[in-house]
Amino acid sequence: MQEAAGRREVTRFAPSPNGWLHLGHAYSAIFAFETAKALGGRFLLRIEDIDIGRCRPEYEQGIYEDLAWLGLDWERPVRRQSEHFADYEAALRRLREMDLIYPCFATRKEITDAIEASGIGHVRWPVDPDGAPIYPGLYKGLPRPTLNELMWDGRSYAWRLDMEKALARAEDMNGGPITFLEEASGPHGETGILAIDPLVFGDVVIARKDVPTSYHLAVTVDDALQGVTVVPRGQDLFPATYVHRLLQVLLGLPEPRYRHHPLVRDETGRRLSKSAKDMGLRELRLAGATPAEVRRLAGL
Ligand code: GLU
Repeated sequence: MQEAAGRREVTRFAPSPNGWLHLGHAYSAIFAFETAKALGGRFLLRIEDIDIGRCRPEYEQGIYEDLAWLGLDWERPVRRQSEHFADYEAALRRLREMDLIYPCFATRKEITDAIEASGIGHVRWPVDPDGAPIYPGLYKGLPRPTLNELMWDGRSYAWRLDMEKALARAEDMNGGPITFLEEASGPHGETGILAIDPLVFGDVVIARKDVPTSYHLAVTVDDALQGVTVVPRGQDLFPATYVHRLLQVLLGLPEPRYRHHPLVRDETGRRLSKSAKDMGLRELRLAGATPAEVRRLAGL
């Protein structure tokens, strides 16, 4: 019995309570819920609230109300990331002991100035899949005493992953190139066993002085701790999978399968977003729409 339970598939929907849910979230939540159902598995809801400054209790409450209204049911208790910083700190410590991360004291302005001074210019400077400029390497490779001095000065900093070094180490640990299994498809139809390419992110931020984690680290640690076997999420997060697989290998965590789904777009082809005040589920619900209408609007 125990063994049978251990073999059940686990999926999750992991929203951040920093705005009201919109049709894109409805799609993602229903996709994850129905994936669990089709696999005879368990469905989890996880609240990704590490960004304490932007997350609000009313948005979290809204998530529970909207999802229940859509007819979804999830296991309790719900994991709230803000209650588990110690788990992420432990993973961060491990990366630090492996000498794969370094503190970066660069301000936004310093980064912009360094890019300007490079002679390449902003327009041609490479950006990561999230649109952020690739880190130009300031503060990288500084001698330990200088770093310690800067830290003692009380300057704020971010922990960055030395991506080239981390990838080389992970491939070594893995005994060859790292791959992942895409069971749905990436934004360009990628499917099956795919190679990771985390270098497209450069030296990504993995934690900050005041928040000892990041989206990448917390999501990787939680998917492992919660025994998630299938990660269903939007194709916007497809490249993030490169970083997550890398971290899984470095931290010795199990490998889930991935199912990335197409994004819900408006009539002009633009992605929906919280900030653009796109039609919220809450608004639709309060205006008298039915869950069936939401499914239709979301293209399900
Ligand atoms: N919390 C992330 C978001 O709101 C999603 C995390 C994931 O599915 O990996 O976009």
